Amino acid sequence: MVGGNAALDFVNTVSDWSGEPVDRLGDAAGFGAWAGVAGLLYGDDLKSLRAELADDENAAKFFEDAVAMRAAMRRIFEAAAKGEAARDDDLDIFNSWKVRAARHCEIRQDKDGFRRRCADEAPALERAMRLIFEAGEELLLNERHDRLRICGGDDCEWMFLDQSKNGKRRWCSMATCGNEHKVKAFRKRKKSAA
Ligand SMILES: [Zn+2]
Repeated sequence: MVGGNAALDFVNTVSDWSGEPVDRLGDAAGFGAWAGVAGLLYGDDLKSLRAELADDENAAKFFEDAVAMRAAMRRIFEAAAKGEAARDDDLDIFNSWKVRAARHCEIRQDKDGFRRRCADEAPALERAMRLIFEAGEELLLNERHDRLRICGGDDCEWMFLDQSKNGKRRWCSMATCGNEHKVKAFRKRKKSAA
């Protein structure tokens, strides 16, 4: 998880978007496992998840929708990172999850005021997507998207929020893509020196 935001981490479950995309999820079970690792689902969610995944048809439909959302978010974030306009049809897909996310939530009032309360019995898969949608919404609304970056590593293209002081972070992670770049640059220098 290098994105610094659940929506970016979700988008980053695909590498090499503009080349030969590699999907690390594969199906709804893969999504569920990833959501567990990402901290979006835990405890009783995982019990509910098992039951949801046992319903093949429902799980397949969910994954199809989630994948469409992932691609739409990627295009929206990429446009934002480049200072370009997002496509309306992508924003439509994004917004369809707002409706979906709201389905299990309601506004209630207690002694501290109004609160949004989201039902615990909402399906785990839907709940994980709600958190992803909310993270995406937060990202677009709070205008940190001028700090959105796309990793320059070979076959990577992961997106992340650059929180460095100078705003010049180039790699999703120094341990992977940054290091690979250093090794390549070193080899190139050695070759030209030989
Ligand atoms: Zn990278």
